[in-house]
Amino acid sequence: MDYDFDLFVIGGGSGGVRAGRVAAMGGAKVALAEEYRMGGTCVIRGCVPKKLMVYASGYAEMMDDAEGFGWTIGNRSFDWGKLIGKIDDELDRLEAIYRKGLVGNGVQVFDARAVVKDGHTVELSSGETFTAKWILVATGGRPFVPNVKGAEHVITSSDIFLMDELPKRVLIVGGGYIASEFAGIFNGMGAEVTQFYRGAQILRGFDGEVRGHVADEMIRKGVNLHLGTDVVEIAKKEDGLHVTCTNGSVKVVDEVVYATGRVPNTEELGLENAGVKLGRKGEVMVDRYSSTSCDSIYAVGDVTDRVQLTPVAIREGMAFVETVFNDNPTAVDHEFIATAVFTQPEIGTVGYTEEDAREDFDIEVYRAAFRPMANVLAGRDERMLMKLIVEKASRKVIGCHIIGPAAGEMIQLAGIAVKMGATKEDFDRTVAVHPTASEELVTMKEPVR
Ligand code: FAD
Ligand code: NDP
Repeated sequence: MDYDFDLFVIGGGSGGVRAGRVAAMGGAKVALAEEYRMGGTCVIRGCVPKKLMVYASGYAEMMDDAEGFGWTIGNRSFDWGKLIGKIDDELDRLEAIYRKGLVGNGVQVFDARAVVKDGHTVELSSGETFTAKWILVATGGRPFVPNVKGAEHVITSSDIFLMDELPKRVLIVGGGYIASEFAGIFNGMGAEVTQFYRGAQILRGFDGEVRGHVADEMIRKGVNLHLGTDVVEIAKKEDGLHVTCTNGSVKVVDEVVYATGRVPNTEELGLENAGVKLGRKGEVMVDRYSSTSCDSIYAVGDVTDRVQLTPVAIREGMAFVETVFNDNPTAVDHEFIATAVFTQPEIGTVGYTEEDAREDFDIEVYRAAFRPMANVLAGRDERMLMKLIVEKASRKVIGCHIIGPAAGEMIQLAGIAVKMGATKEDFDRTVAVHPTASEELVTMKEPVR
């Protein structure tokens, strides 16, 4: 049968754009539909604008610290509108690059919403219908807001980038990546920040000591972190949003930001027309090759709810192209993915937490907590933390956790060693780079546990 396209990609985010471009570069006839802006969550309302805001929010501390090094900094003020204008320009630039990368390689781009009609047919919001030999679902996810009374008054991470001004008082609900990152961003920019997390400690799933260390430092920097606390009701009044908490108190703020997880974008996508199975949260069920229960439909990225990270969506997109177009079945390796949380202070982590490792292996824990050199003259008490989890039998480093400046940069490199199966002795025989903070990674001599 003749199809209009070899491949129809639904969603122009990290996974879809990469898969579409690479398939087209290999000679496939490719179409891609994006309903909002090219680049998807990461470029338009995720990693990129978030990281730019992390940078922006870090300058207040840097200016404080500069005084310790002999500088005198004059009057300072922060202009949210100016920052947003600059970020918008950058996003426009990146969006254009993404589009050019597709169009320049022969991908036909449709600025429209697409729904699946059957295993080989896609219908666009423009009314057009196309057939394709393969369909790739790369529709990502969106913020989830629980059904709390007054939920219509809250905003999510997607709205933050569209705000006209910096709220003076912000309540952030959630204790995951997004909640904890934005607590630091707003705090650094000078807002009064309260964070509610329903559990005993933020960043569930991360190493226990890391969670405690980051939470303590966030509190020290000024975030009012309330653990074991949730929202009962939000009411809009003249002086702001009145938030009734589970402990009975009422907090008045200008914005309530919900960062309580994300749900896959599969609603009204028509996947049932093609017999594509969904999971409990609405995620597309896939095998290790990203193939769905319909032979001609694959799915990659956040919509499959495996690991919600941009480089993972990209890897899955590339593996899909290898599998389907290059006759080279390729499963994405989801083991030992290094990741950074851009909290303030920043976390870099790869591999097992101490708690998880202890369940599966006999382990040694190496740990260093110290005040980095720059903080001494700056008069800042903030400490860094470095931790290595070593499996006793094989001597392999199966976990590495870093908190402090540039932890994200460091973990990318430490991640290579861990992925390669480096042993503690391999770390030890690596000569230190001095004077750096990362030299601690190769100089921890005695296990603490
Ligand atoms: P997306 O990038 O979400 O792209 C899906 C696209 O599909 C969207 O553009 C959407 O408009 C479009 N779409 C949906 N339905 C349809 C339809 N029916 N028809 C046409 N188009 C459709 N990850 C990191 O690795 N590092 C970070 O620092 C980081 N920070 C983040 C910060 C925030 C605030 C958020 C929300 C996420 C962050 N992430 C980060 C996660 C990362 O953004 C995602 O994992 C990644 O974007 C997933 O890519 P994707 O291709 O699966 O989906
Ligand atoms: P997370 O899953 O990381 O965190 C969700 C948080 O919301 C958790 O603390 C969770 O609590 C809480 N929560 C969930 N449901 C409720 C509820 N009904 N009431 C109150 N609290 C609730 O999701 P995020 O939205 O922060 O981020 C989504 C994903 O995006 C991340 O998992 C990550 O993969 C990716 N991301 C990556 C970044 C990076 O690489 N730096 C940055 C930002 C996002 P509990 O723990 O108790 O379940």
